[in-house]
Amino acid sequence: MSAVQGQTDQLPCPRCGRRVPIAADLRPAGFPFCSERCRLLDLGAWIDGKHAIAGRGGEDGQE
Ligand SMILES: [Zn+2]
Repeated sequence: MSAVQGQTDQLPCPRCGRRVPIAADLRPAGFPFCSERCRLLDLGAWIDGKHAIAGRGGEDGQE
C-alpha cells in the first residue's frame, strides 16, 4: 500500500545539497535548507564572511 507519488518537488539544500521537499507539509524548519542546523551554519558563514569583508575597524589611514 505504498503509493509512490512520483517525484515530489524538491530543492537541493544550499548548504549540503541534500534534497529538501518544497511542499508546505514536508518542508523542514530550516527551509530552504534541509534542517535548521544547515540554515544556521550557512547563516553563520554568511555573517562571518560579511564581517570579514566589512572589517573596517582598524586604522588603515597610515600614510
Ligand atoms: Zn543541509
